[in-house]
Order: sequence, then C-alpha cells, then structure tokens
Amino acid sequence: MPIADTSDQLTEKCAVFGVCGTGLEAARLAFYGLWALQHRGQESSGIASTDGTELHRHGAVGLVANVYREEDFEQLPGHIAIGHNRYSTSGGEEASHVQPIADYELGFAFAHNGNLPDCSKLIVFLENHGIDTKALNDSGMMAAAIGYYLRKGDDVGTAIRKSYPLFTGVFSAVVIHGDKLVAFRDACGIRPLSIATLDGGYVVASETCAFDTIGAKFLRDVEPGEMVVIDKHGMTAEQLATPDPKLDIFEFVYFARPDSLLIGKRVNEVRKNFGREMAHEYHIEADVVVPVPDSGVPAAQGYAEASGIPFEMGLIKNRYIHRTFIRPTAELRAQDLKMKLNPVIEVIKDKRVIIVDDSIVRGTTQRKVVAMLFNAGAREVHVMISCPPVRYPDFYGINTPDPSELISARMSVEQTREYIGATSLNFLSFDGMINATGFPASRFSSSCFDGIYPIAIGSRAKQVLALPDMPPVESKKVTTSQKPHVRVS
Ligand code: AMP
Repeated sequence: MPIADTSDQLTEKCAVFGVCGTGLEAARLAFYGLWALQHRGQESSGIASTDGTELHRHGAVGLVANVYREEDFEQLPGHIAIGHNRYSTSGGEEASHVQPIADYELGFAFAHNGNLPDCSKLIVFLENHGIDTKALNDSGMMAAAIGYYLRKGDDVGTAIRKSYPLFTGVFSAVVIHGDKLVAFRDACGIRPLSIATLDGGYVVASETCAFDTIGAKFLRDVEPGEMVVIDKHGMTAEQLATPDPKLDIFEFVYFARPDSLLIGKRVNEVRKNFGREMAHEYHIEADVVVPVPDSGVPAAQGYAEASGIPFEMGLIKNRYIHRTFIRPTAELRAQDLKMKLNPVIEVIKDKRVIIVDDSIVRGTTQRKVVAMLFNAGAREVHVMISCPPVRYPDFYGINTPDPSELISARMSVEQTREYIGATSLNFLSFDGMINATGFPASRFSSSCFDGIYPIAIGSRAKQVLALPDMPPVESKKVTTSQKPHVRVS
C-alpha cells in the first residue's frame, strides 16, 4: 500500500465523497462535492477516479480551491470517483496523509472518515499475513486488509464483508474497485454518510449539503452497519452488522453544515432549538444577543426568538479566514482569531451582551471573544454555550483526543467563567440538548459530554478513567435522569 504514516496518529474527522454513473464527469463532481464539504477538513484533499479499467489519483496538502487545477481533471477521467478532505491534528500535514489511498495494481482506492481507536485485531491479522503495519495508520490498515482479500481474488463486496469484523472503531468509508463504487459505515453510524441520485447514477457524501451543490437528489442515509455497492446496473445494499444507531451528537452541535440533513433533521433547525432550550433554561437580563459567527448563529437566533431579546451581528467574521481550531499550533490559532473576528462597536458599547457560541473546547476562543467585547465597551458579557461542557476526549474522529486540552475536564463551570473573564457562563444542559434534536438520548453517541463510549476504545480507556469526576450541568427546565458517569466498552 503506498500509504505511509509515522505513528499511531489518529485519523481525524474528515469528509468523504463518492459518485458513480454512466456519462458523469465523476472527478469534477467530486471536486464540487469536496468544496461543499470543506468545513470537515482543511489540511488536504484528494480524488481518485476510474472508468472501470484504470485508476487515477490526484491529491495534495491544502484547501480544495488550491489542490486542483483545471489540467488535473484531464488526469482524472472516468464515470466513478471518490474524494476526501482531511482534517488533521498537530503534525499531521504531510502529503503522506493525503487520501484516497490508492493501489493502482488492484484498481483499488479507499477513503475514510472516522477513527479506529483500537487497531489490535487489524494489526494481528495483517502481521499474520505478512503485511508490515509499522508504517500504516488506521485507514492504511483498513485499506490493507481489504486489499489482502482483493489480491486473493475476492470481489470488493466480499473483501469488505470479510475485513469488516477487523474494524473496531468508527468509519464512514468509500471505495473504488474496478467498475464499482462501495460505501460502508460502522454499526453505530457515528459519522454521517448519505446517498443521493444524479442523472441515473448515485452519489454518496458525508453530508447532504454536497448533494445540493451538484444538483443530486437526497435518497437516504447509508444505514449504520450497511454496505452499498454501486455500478452501472444500479445499487445493492447489504447489512454487514446489526445496527446500533448512535450518531455523534457533536455533528449537530458543531461539525455539520447547518444546511445539511442529519438523520432526517435539518441541522440549522436543531441548532435553533438548542438556543430555544437555553432560553427556557436561563433567564438573563440583557440588551442584545450576539452570535460568535458562524457556528453560534442558529443557536443565537433561537435564543433571541425565545427570550425576546434582540438579535444583532455584533461580531463580524472575515470570510477569508477559515476555521481557527483546525490550525495545528496554538500560535497559529491565536493569530487566526484576531484576524477572524471584529466587533461592531455600536452594537456592543454600553450594552449587556449575551454572546452565544456552539461549544467551548480549550477555552481559547471564548477568552478572546469576551476580552474583545469588553474592549468594545460592553457593560456585561454573558456567555451561552449551546451544548454541555466537553469533558471527555474524543476517539471517534474529532480533534480533541488529549483530555489535558479540554478546559471542562479540568475546571468547574465557575472556574471556566473566571478563566474566560465573563460576567456569567451557562451551558445548555444534556437533557436540553437531547430535547432539541427530537430523538431519544439512545440515538446518539455523546461520549465527549458523558464519557460513555459505545465503541471499544481499547487502551485509551485509561485516559478517560483517570479524569476527575465533575458534576453534570443540570437542566433547570426538564428532569434530568441520573446519568452514569463514565462507562467505557
Ligand atoms: P476553543 O477555543 O478551543 O474553546 O474552541 C472552541 C471553538 O472551536 C468553538 O467555538 C467551536 O466553534 C470550534 N470547535 C469546537 N469543536 C471543534 C472541533 N472538534 N474541531 C474544530 N473546531 C471546533
């Protein structure tokens, strides 16, 4: 496998895209799809394409807009393509991490959104079959296992079916082999993956917003534990594992684009509901509700609507700066934030401001935002966060694997308030967040809030069990069922 990695580095939250249909210019469609999915990963991008005989690939470090030039599409012919945007942790920017992973000899390409926190079964399997795993990350190992069966002569559906039990973790994956496009998902469906139709062909994508961009019509989600195989004859579906649907609730909280549908719900509406729930939980005397753009906008609208306090865009975002969190080093992040946000003095000066954002992770953003608002003349700054405190590390594909970086794993709400310098700080309760989705809590993985990991996290469980116990943020509106504290499978 021509994939190289240097460590057990996590494969992080990313975007995947796939398209297959007679007559479609697949690579170009993948390009537009990846552009719509840029928010899920900004470190690198890649596309593999085929006409069913020969495999082609182009990928590089950088944004979608910078990675592809017109002439690259001449090198990406065919009616089948898969694509990937990568979001990486510190030090993960090298070209060797760029997906799709391609094996030209086999006519096989693979792209993965998610993370396998426990690769032990895969390592034993691959090493037993003479495949050196030292240079492979989790995605590389998944591809190597499927490749092993393809080399033995199995068709791609069989190769994935046989390798599937080796994959302990989170994956929404797309594959090309020969003239087939395949998409498959872990039994919990932690990361999203949806299917659409386009001109007699099919499209799969991490989020439905990618379908709108290319005029594809949303059909359904790839079900948790399901594999779909697409070729010129159509689509066949097969359940590879008993489904235990648990979408990562952080997709609703932060990651997905507001115009996407997740398990049939418009993300924008759920985020507005977060704000409405918060308004029912916390009554704050204030003059204006201001979102942190863009991630805080829908919740701030919901809060303003339900509280009757006027909504104003009191912070303006420079559109040409992308997500600060994703930048790998603290220095880059700090610099980015100053360039990214600027207050509108007239909205803020002498006002009691409610500032709404989607989440606090390290606390860096809120600390700077609060200081910025006081500098602009705010009398009071009340911070409203439209999810509970992020207290537990994520092992399923989000860039927060180190608990020492999570402010809420170390500090109480009051200590956090002091740290960010706000007049008050309030988090949406767990029950309020769940109510806002319209689904029961059991429909979600909410490990970053409750420490309950539905998919085995292997030796990483030690990190979680070492964390101090923190009292949950109780809803003042709904009865909170006593939630168990930490449970790791
Ligand atoms: P922080 O400054 O570390 O507290 O970052 C919090 C901000 O980063 C929030 O306002 C979110 O919009 C954003 N954010 C939260 N989680 C993530 C994540 N996993 N990846 C990228 N950005 C995030």
